Amino acid sequence: MAIDLVIRNAFFPGSDGLTDIAFANGRIAAMAPRFVCDAPEYDAGGRLVSGGLIETHIHLDKAGIVGRCALCTGTLAEAVSETSKAKAAFTEEDVYARAAGIVEQAILNGTNRLRTFVEIDGRAGFRSFDAIKRLRADYAAAIDIEICAFAQEGLTNDPGTEEMLDRALASGADLVGGCPYTDPRPDDHIRRIFDLGERYGVPVDFHLDFDLDPAGSNLPLVIAETLARGYQGRVSVGHVTKLSALPPEAFEAVGRSLAQAGIAVTVLPATDLFLTARATTYLVPRGVTPAHRLAELGVLTTISTNNVLNPFTPFGDVSLIRMANLYANVAQIGTGNALEAVFGMITINAARLLGLKQYALEVGGPATLVLFDAVSGADAVARLSPAVTGWKDGRQTFLRPAPRLLFGQSAL
Ligand SMILES: [Zn+2]
Repeated sequence: MAIDLVIRNAFFPGSDGLTDIAFANGRIAAMAPRFVCDAPEYDAGGRLVSGGLIETHIHLDKAGIVGRCALCTGTLAEAVSETSKAKAAFTEEDVYARAAGIVEQAILNGTNRLRTFVEIDGRAGFRSFDAIKRLRADYAAAIDIEICAFAQEGLTNDPGTEEMLDRALASGADLVGGCPYTDPRPDDHIRRIFDLGERYGVPVDFHLDFDLDPAGSNLPLVIAETLARGYQGRVSVGHVTKLSALPPEAFEAVGRSLAQAGIAVTVLPATDLFLTARATTYLVPRGVTPAHRLAELGVLTTISTNNVLNPFTPFGDVSLIRMANLYANVAQIGTGNALEAVFGMITINAARLLGLKQYALEVGGPATLVLFDAVSGADAVARLSPAVTGWKDGRQTFLRPAPRLLFGQSAL
């Protein structure tokens, strides 16, 4: 077999010492120490190799619009209404340009798969959807993009949205997402989203329980519908910040129910920190659900970026390593094993949430990997280690040369 490239001296978690990884025809042909061949090589210099970072929950369509919105209260209600107003003016080219900038930044940060929500309703029409579908095709060589047709502003209160989601699922959306907290009939909303998912045989993903009132959770219905429809392993929920307001015994009971129902949870620390507890004037709660405690109860958990530079999160750089670090800091996680588990929430757990068949680095699998300037996942999370370079299906997709100190020398 003709070897195209060998990555030399990579640190592969779980192996003894450093590993060489040989590529042939876009696949991994060999993984072994001191692999003998004369193909071109890249010296990883002992750096951590990973399958790459994965956003399980991001909104490409409404990224980068903070300059078009007025932020006064900083609440979730304001974020939804301000974005709704801006959305009506989106053009396909506008969405494409903003989303492309975000996707390029994500690739440079070591992300090679993502699930984006795309709002499809009477205000956005199919303009955002068409833009993101075009983007998905144009960037396929560097990143796999999954599109979730999303009802941000409700279903039962928003005539036409349900039919539009149906059309999107028939024309290229990968799954369907709901937002019962913006619907006056949240139970009906949840069932209709499940109905759409079942009709097309695709997963469902809900924005759920996004406040700090422990009462009024929509989780019991999502759990019941998941079990009744045999949807275990194909349901994920984002935010669920109500869980952060539960005392330990109640939290554990919900966590065990989520684990039994095979429902995955995505925590979105930047948005949850920014939007929750706005009425609290001192000793402000963190409002971030403890993903690591859910993981201890057997729940599949991930961390994701959610929003970038919009009223939901008016900052961001699409760096999942930064998001993992933020989560670890907020959740007061500091030991090596616990930080390694946080790295898992933006890598292997995220691959499981998306149901990826091929993510782990193994012989015969895709030559898709990212090198980090770190000696372990825990180290990367603790030190905010940047991605250095990455390949997808054997093709190099980005390179970030290390910054240099000059001490008076000229770099020219
Ligand atoms: Zn979201």
